[in-house]
Amino acid sequence: MITEKLYYNNSYINEFSAVVLSCDACTDGFFVTLDKTAFFPEGGGQKADNGYIGDVFVKDVQEESGKILHFVDKALSVGGEYLCKLNWQQRFNRMQNHSGEHIVSGIVNSLYGYDNVGFHMEEDYVTIDFNGELTREQLDEIEDKVNYAIYKNYSINCWFPDQTELSGLDYRSKLELTENVRLVSIENTDLCACCAPHVKSTGEVGIVKILDFMRHRGGIRLVMKAGFKALLDYREKYRSVYDISNLLSAKQPEVFNAVERVYNEVDDVNRELYNFKHKVAESDKNNLIYSGNISYFISSFYDTDMMRNLVNYGMEKSSLSLAFSGEDENGYSYIAGSNSLDMKNVARSINSSLNGRGGGRDTMIQGKVSATKEQIVNYLENNEWR
Ligand SMILES: [Zn+2]
Repeated sequence: MITEKLYYNNSYINEFSAVVLSCDACTDGFFVTLDKTAFFPEGGGQKADNGYIGDVFVKDVQEESGKILHFVDKALSVGGEYLCKLNWQQRFNRMQNHSGEHIVSGIVNSLYGYDNVGFHMEEDYVTIDFNGELTREQLDEIEDKVNYAIYKNYSINCWFPDQTELSGLDYRSKLELTENVRLVSIENTDLCACCAPHVKSTGEVGIVKILDFMRHRGGIRLVMKAGFKALLDYREKYRSVYDISNLLSAKQPEVFNAVERVYNEVDDVNRELYNFKHKVAESDKNNLIYSGNISYFISSFYDTDMMRNLVNYGMEKSSLSLAFSGEDENGYSYIAGSNSLDMKNVARSINSSLNGRGGGRDTMIQGKVSATKEQIVNYLENNEWR
């Protein structure tokens, strides 16, 4: 017995009773066939529906050799009649996105003659690849025309034409199909071969928003959202812009300029800070402490750049130069350098004497010690390299 495909006649059926024709085990559960089904199997770029047969979750639906297989985790009794329910919100979101995609593809085709050569429906957005390039301005115009077609509430019809009818029609198609071609027509807008469920009029698509586009294989790939997914996107982005606008006391359409201004100010402050730190480290060269053959400096606010700057200077004046920065409670970072000593030995000595970790190569090492300033000075005044 062949399963009756309810989704072809009426894409709005989301609850129905069906009899289980077969139930077989497979690697991760069971696959079930029904006498009729509204579960759309993956196809035409649209993912499979989810839902329930009785209380058993339908995790995937595939069409194989003309059979619609419902993949489930629990076995169902053959001959039993079950109430079946689709995850309708998911299916309707997909129908909005898919019908929206047809409107976009039809309008691009009629305005510019470009074909839809690739189509991906993710859960949250759709991408369409066209074999020609479009500018942002052209996409704005397309978006206007697409939404105008939505407001006009044009009817959408799906049917299987016979060979005679089909041969007289000019329709969009990615494949050279000759039999069982299902057509989806959108009044005044598009005619395309497609096996997926669609909304019954363009008004139900709600809105189409083109979000992004990029060059792709000699044409463009555009990213769009329709219906509830577009609404959700607007809601999230509106909140984001609203918050940024309040935070920066800027009008909403001007938040980009406001953020750019803050960004530039931070850049300036960072540059000033860098120069200031450089000057401080420069003047602290006079405060290096020389003790025997080593020189050292201990600070409470030096960063790595400042320490390195000072150590480089100290290395010219002494055989070993060290800089420490930090505080007794949280420990000190250190950098040490020498042009003559084996720094591996120096690292070992500092780490073992001052409860530290770190190391490096060649002439410079860096790390962190858990010791007080007093312990550090004591070590520096008594180590073997003085
Ligand atoms: Zn389609």
